[in-house]
Amino acid sequence: MKIVVVGGGISGVSAAYLLRKHTKYDVVLVEKEKQTGGKAATFKEEGYTIETGPNGFLDNKEEIKRLINDSGFDDNVIESKDESRSRYIFSNGRLYQLPENPIKLFFSDFFSLKGLLEIFKEPFIEQYMQDETLEQFVKRRLGKEMLDKLIGPMACGVYAGNPKYMSMDATFKKIKDIERQYGSLIKGLISMMKQKKAKASSASGPFSAKLMSFKNGVGSFVNHLAGNINRMEGEVVNIAKQEKGYRIDTKRDSIYADYVVFAAPAYALSKITEKLDNEFSRILNMLEYAPLSVVSLGFDKKNMPEIVNSFGYLFNLNDIKDTIGVLFDSSIFDFRAPEDKVLVRVMIGGAIKKQSAFKNKIYGTAVQELQRSASIFNAFEYSHLKRHTFAIPQYGLNHKEIIDSIKEFERRNRGIFITGNAFYGVSLNDCVAASYELISKVL
Ligand SMILES: Cc1cc2nc3c(=O)[nH]c(=O)nc-3n(C[C@H](O)[C@H](O)[C@H](O)COP(=O)(O)OP(=O)(O)OC[C@H]3O[C@@H](n4cnc5c(N)ncnc54)[C@H](O)[C@@H]3O)c2cc1C
Repeated sequence: MKIVVVGGGISGVSAAYLLRKHTKYDVVLVEKEKQTGGKAATFKEEGYTIETGPNGFLDNKEEIKRLINDSGFDDNVIESKDESRSRYIFSNGRLYQLPENPIKLFFSDFFSLKGLLEIFKEPFIEQYMQDETLEQFVKRRLGKEMLDKLIGPMACGVYAGNPKYMSMDATFKKIKDIERQYGSLIKGLISMMKQKKAKASSASGPFSAKLMSFKNGVGSFVNHLAGNINRMEGEVVNIAKQEKGYRIDTKRDSIYADYVVFAAPAYALSKITEKLDNEFSRILNMLEYAPLSVVSLGFDKKNMPEIVNSFGYLFNLNDIKDTIGVLFDSSIFDFRAPEDKVLVRVMIGGAIKKQSAFKNKIYGTAVQELQRSASIFNAFEYSHLKRHTFAIPQYGLNHKEIIDSIKEFERRNRGIFITGNAFYGVSLNDCVAASYELISKVL
């Protein structure tokens, strides 16, 4: 029996690795690029370790840790540095440090009195059970200031998203479910804290999970997994049903398989399935992606402002010009820059400023943004640009329709399984968890 896995990002590679390990099937991974990894790619240059996509994963989910352990890669895992835990929001022309305990924010000058009153009115806001956008939810329950200054920036940080279009159920379901269950977030959180008593102390704030990575970057882990898999380079363009199994056409050849796992982006899968199921292909094509340019800049440490020793910062939605976030990679992890240098990654564009991701003089933009928001006036000594036209899939109000149609498609086409960050979560953790889920379906 043969299984073909299409797409060699973390989703496809982890699925192929687990299939090889846990089944007796002949597993072949088909990836259109020479290199596996997809968005998870790392390279080294001039003493810097550059992540062109993700720089780590949170340690609060089991599956990725299990996979690291299972594949014998534990010795390469590194923790983010404790001293870099401080994170900031650039708002109204200055940087505000976010306290570890978010409650403390309410006793600082971060929110205006008007903003605080809106937040404290939350328990009296009427419950709304249906799905809605992140913007609708936060504005309705907590007010516009909370959206602009805290939740909106976080949505940009995680999804490169625009709160105007993000579905609560598809992106922040746990929070929406607190409203559904308790009628109010504040009431719900108090009740949950009481239930957990001492365990739910202030230590369980949004940043309590630790960011982890690998000594040689996230890409090294995907390459390590891929090293154990039979691979073929090729861009899949079509799939056709056979009497038994499927024929998968790449631009050059065709391969036959009993089972097919798709872990390619939604727009690619839409093209591949156009002939097999036109309606399904049309629905997949509705899934939009946010573009993002990742500008990596290396500086001499001398005369750099104190902020470069932190994790990084996000922007109040009203203060976004081109950049949605800045990360000080060399402060977050060891082994990212030479001893006396600083590695900064400036994230430009996202769903909220799509056109900025495609700007021509993007280094100039990054420099101006660093000057404006962090008073970094030093000249950079190293630079690299990675432009992602389709950086991160955006889960809108139609996401449930898309997931339902995937399940229906899988039912109609037995032996085809679909995974990937377009559907079941965008974090590395989500992608690996989806692979474990997929393995149990295949088995
Ligand atoms: C800039 C950036 C920063 C991020 N930061 C983080 C972070 O810090 N932590 C975190 O957890 N997540 C982060 N993410 C999200 C995370 O990196 C991605 O969601 C995840 O890596 C996606 O993996 P994937 O395998 O599902 O998709 P992809 O990585 O997109 O892989 C899909 C693969 O399919 C291949 N392919 C496409 N079409 C075809 C075809 N027709 N035939 C064959 N192959 C095809 C592609 O070449 C690609 O290799 C970040 C994402 C970006 C862009």
